[in-house]
Amino acid sequence: MDTQTANLSAQLIELADTYGAHNYHPLPIVITTAKGIWVKDPDGRKYMDMLSAYSALNHGHRHPRVIKALVDQAKKLTLTSRAFNNDQLGPWLKELCDFTGYDVALPMNTGCEAVETALKLARKWGYKVKHVPEGKAEIVVCANNFHGRTVTVVGFSTEAQYKDGFGPFSPGFKVVKFGDIEELRAAVNENTVAFLFEPIQGEAGINVPPAGYLKAAKEICKQHNALFVADEVQTGFGRTGKNFCWQHDDARPDMMIMGKALGGGVMPISAVVASREIMHVLNPGDHGSTFGGNPLACAVSREALRVLKDEQLVEKSAEMGEYFMQGLRAIKSPYIKEVRGKGLLIGLELKPEAGGARRFCEAMMNMGLLCKETHDNVIRFAPPLIITKKEIDWALKRIAKALK
Ligand code: PLP
Repeated sequence: MDTQTANLSAQLIELADTYGAHNYHPLPIVITTAKGIWVKDPDGRKYMDMLSAYSALNHGHRHPRVIKALVDQAKKLTLTSRAFNNDQLGPWLKELCDFTGYDVALPMNTGCEAVETALKLARKWGYKVKHVPEGKAEIVVCANNFHGRTVTVVGFSTEAQYKDGFGPFSPGFKVVKFGDIEELRAAVNENTVAFLFEPIQGEAGINVPPAGYLKAAKEICKQHNALFVADEVQTGFGRTGKNFCWQHDDARPDMMIMGKALGGGVMPISAVVASREIMHVLNPGDHGSTFGGNPLACAVSREALRVLKDEQLVEKSAEMGEYFMQGLRAIKSPYIKEVRGKGLLIGLELKPEAGGARRFCEAMMNMGLLCKETHDNVIRFAPPLIITKKEIDWALKRIAKALK
């Protein structure tokens, strides 16, 4: 790297550090351009993106069709608020319902907002339809969950740091061990309005529940007339080799929460889908968002959904995921404890004596491969779904070298 551009990277990092809140600890790289699975720094050095913005870039960076949809729509109409109708919202809602197989959808912007939406819907449904006594609604969640960062949502996190200094928190949440069906059975009662879960826990370290867990959990919810609510923000849109991760267990949720890749890696857009019976507990004025359902994000998302289908990205994720996982399992390293995941959502857990995942991520970065540790000992590999075998081989060589 020449000194001038090395200085430029350092200067940009320092600017962000000086004028920004210190709520992140990014790898020391600045990205200035990107295309497909590759990104470049100010020096023109190329890196393979193996994080995909935490699964928001399933289509890769700047997919040409998604960018075209963005530019075309930007020339026509970008924002109306929901005080008026816009011509992209209706078609997007229909196309999302067709894609997911649900009756109705509600748009928001970020994953966490969609989670909040689902929590409000579950409670309102609980009071108005299930007739839970006022103020008694309970929502069961899993230990080690990650559903976002609002006060309500961190309130039911089990991660001390996510909560420290942010209380008091909303009551009405019960925590059970993820993957333990008997704990769930014991926790659900007549006041339970929902069980909220991630079909694979992403931020917790790519935790895959035992086969059959989701199906059994759904059955418990059904017995107690509680909503079975999947957070597919990270696992959705092909990331795990199916359109949605619950499909691996054939456990269709009553409500599904989506975000990230719904915006094709270009616009923030999130949604909750459900049946009419559940969604229509909301009346005008009950819930909303200025930018939710804006025509720019809807137009981008419509094209993103079409690209997923046309380019068979979901099938590719299943095939490439299998190939990648096999390659990772074949690496001989004294540090590897386990490789797990589904599709292209893969976690490589290191043994405690490896000294943490961060140093390996930094070593890989220096070899042109960008990935990020999740918690201390897991490296997450989640490349865009457009990745090829040749590119996976390229990555495997570097991963093996870093883990030697
Ligand atoms: N739910 C899950 C499962 C997530 O992984 C995330 C983010 O990583 C969120 C919700 C929050 O999404 P956002 O950061 O867009 O608010």
